[in-house]
Amino acid sequence: MSDTFKAILVSRDAEKKQSVEIVDLTEAELMEGDVTVAVEATTVNYKDGLAITGKAPVVRRWPLVPGIDFAGTVISSSHADWRKGDKVILNGWGVGETHYGAYAGRARVKGDWLVPLPESMSPHDAMAVGTAGYTAMLAVMALERHGIVPDRGPVVVTGAAGGVGSVAISILSTLGYHVIASTGRSAESPYLIDLGAAEVISREELSQPAKPLAKERWAGGVDSVGTHTLANVLSMTSYGGAVAACGLAGGMDLPTSVAPFILRGVSLLGIDSVMAPKPVRLEAWRRIGADLDLKKLSTLSRSIGFDGIIDAARDIIHGKIRGRVVVDM
Ligand code: NDP
Repeated sequence: MSDTFKAILVSRDAEKKQSVEIVDLTEAELMEGDVTVAVEATTVNYKDGLAITGKAPVVRRWPLVPGIDFAGTVISSSHADWRKGDKVILNGWGVGETHYGAYAGRARVKGDWLVPLPESMSPHDAMAVGTAGYTAMLAVMALERHGIVPDRGPVVVTGAAGGVGSVAISILSTLGYHVIASTGRSAESPYLIDLGAAEVISREELSQPAKPLAKERWAGGVDSVGTHTLANVLSMTSYGGAVAACGLAGGMDLPTSVAPFILRGVSLLGIDSVMAPKPVRLEAWRRIGADLDLKKLSTLSRSIGFDGIIDAARDIIHGKIRGRVVVDM
């Protein structure tokens, strides 16, 4: 009999009603790919919350094992770049959306989707960073490409106590930026300051409809909220600044005007982690290994077991998760 492993499976009935269950799978039931990986750590991202709860149409193949990222060890490979025993990370590429994902003891994926685990990190560390943290790094790299260096002025991080926000604060403060953290959870101020925020402001300051232009407060921003929050961040960005838009935790719309762009030369930088080309990913993970103070990972993450994934997925959708959740398989 083949070895089985536990997996989370989301399914849909004839009325398109979604359900989630824990099942036993075998390797033969995994989808096509040229590398099979023993999943050692994964995590619960906002998108995983959407997939498991069905709150947004993240899952586009039924049934599906969700989970958009993992770190683990190659068990078998017919891909030229990978051999048995290699330590790898996967983020995105439709895994956990259209391809069986991380919430299983094993995953079979395309070798082209994998990047090596940085030597300074364990699989647990890599998933404390996870897709949220890798996205935060992509946002920081985009700001840097735009010339937003610490001397240019403060950088605001919205959704600060969430996953993208927590890692963005940690990276930016380590790099010497003056970080302004915007949160709806004032009780998390000490946590945000511990991560490196220089100032904490209330989410409400940015959640009302934005004026076309407002007082210049920061040179740049990392936004994971969208909607009025992103509009306010743009209208408060100083001349020639830039804002990296990563997420939609508050909403998908963007009720802004062209004023920040045409009167202050502000740039809006789009961040996508899912289909980011491999050289960009390799650079992002290299930078994470180099520029993220790994000691901060224990402050910004907590561990759960496989059986805690479904509850954590529900919690993240309700904004109840602080920082990152690592799943040790
Ligand atoms: P989290 O849930 O961990 O963080 C989101 C944070 O946003 C919350 O912690 C909360 O921060 C804030 N927030 C939640 N709801 C609202 C609201 N209604 N209004 C204002 N603020 C709110 O999620 P992640 O950090 O994992 O992801 C953040 C966003 O980034 C998501 O939309 C996700 O889909 C997106 N994302 C995009 C990626 C890409 O490739 N572009 C990759 C990864 C994530 P606080 O309590 O501090 O206010």
